[in-house]
Amino acid sequence: MAEIIDGKAMAADLRQEIATDTAALIAQGVTPGLAVVLVGEDPASRVYVSMKEKACAATGIFSDEYKLPVETSEAELLELIVKLNNDERIDGILVQLPLPEHIDEAKVLEAISPAKDVDGFHPYNVGRLVTGNPLFQPCTPYGVMKMLERTGVDLEGKEVVVVGRSNIVGKPVALMCLAEHATVTICHSRTRDLPAKVAAADVVIAAVGVPEMIKGDWIKEGAVVIDVGVNRVGEKKLVGDVDFAAASEHASAITPVPGGVGPMTITMLLYNTVVSAKRRAAQKSRSV
Ligand code: NDP
Repeated sequence: MAEIIDGKAMAADLRQEIATDTAALIAQGVTPGLAVVLVGEDPASRVYVSMKEKACAATGIFSDEYKLPVETSEAELLELIVKLNNDERIDGILVQLPLPEHIDEAKVLEAISPAKDVDGFHPYNVGRLVTGNPLFQPCTPYGVMKMLERTGVDLEGKEVVVVGRSNIVGKPVALMCLAEHATVTICHSRTRDLPAKVAAADVVIAAVGVPEMIKGDWIKEGAVVIDVGVNRVGEKKLVGDVDFAAASEHASAITPVPGGVGPMTITMLLYNTVVSAKRRAAQKSRSV
């Protein structure tokens, strides 16, 4: 039976470390600050934003919330971003997606200063990731990497198969694995013979959004399985992209859903905010 990679426990440990670093920064006169911007009333977005606020409060990070009405214009939102870019108390800016249709998402994300882009979605930060010199790495894939690291998985020379090629999970996690010297295969909806690709993997990272589509008997004996998928089935049940019970029979380690990658995502947002605040503290000490 596979070892269960406990994302909840890992996230709790990491949050403890973040709280310690935050306290040390506050003692130096630098309180890490995160601005969270929400436009409109999307219920899921409201839940995410309030989880982010609570997580900030629990670790000592200052959070500045902007809950804007759905009719906010693109120009007004861009004006707020400029203000936050210049606000010295703010180390990270997060604009909750999706934005209402009348606002150009790419334009807004590109307006965020790359030095405060704790979500890592600005093309500058994407470019830095591609060239192997990251400034901020996107939270979900970064969380996956932290989980692999803390499980003691050394990726050097390993065959990693990423299923999914989105800009927020599949592509960045593939680049991060490449930076750790894995041999990476990225699969997607046009991939031929997905079961054979998955069967060759030492590490499988699933980010598809199709409930339990990756079957247990595709998994190589002893492989590590990271399931990013979060799929609602019926009223209350959440399942991943991997058939967890069957895959556990073959994997050496596997993440559950829920309680796997999910708790790490917000944690990495806090982590990036503290990294940004550390940069501010270093700048401050150089300028004294
Ligand atoms: P997207 O819908 O943006 O991308 C899904 C990817 O899966 C696409 O590249 C698509 O291929 C591929 N795909 C779809 N169907 C198949 C198939 N049958 N066979 C092979 N590949 C397929 O999703 P995201 O990357 O945003 O999210 C993926 C999952 O991760 C979702 O369940 C989401 O809820 C979850 N998620 C979880 C987070 C967390 O914090 N735990 C954060 C973000 C996402 P193609 O490009 O060809 O269309």
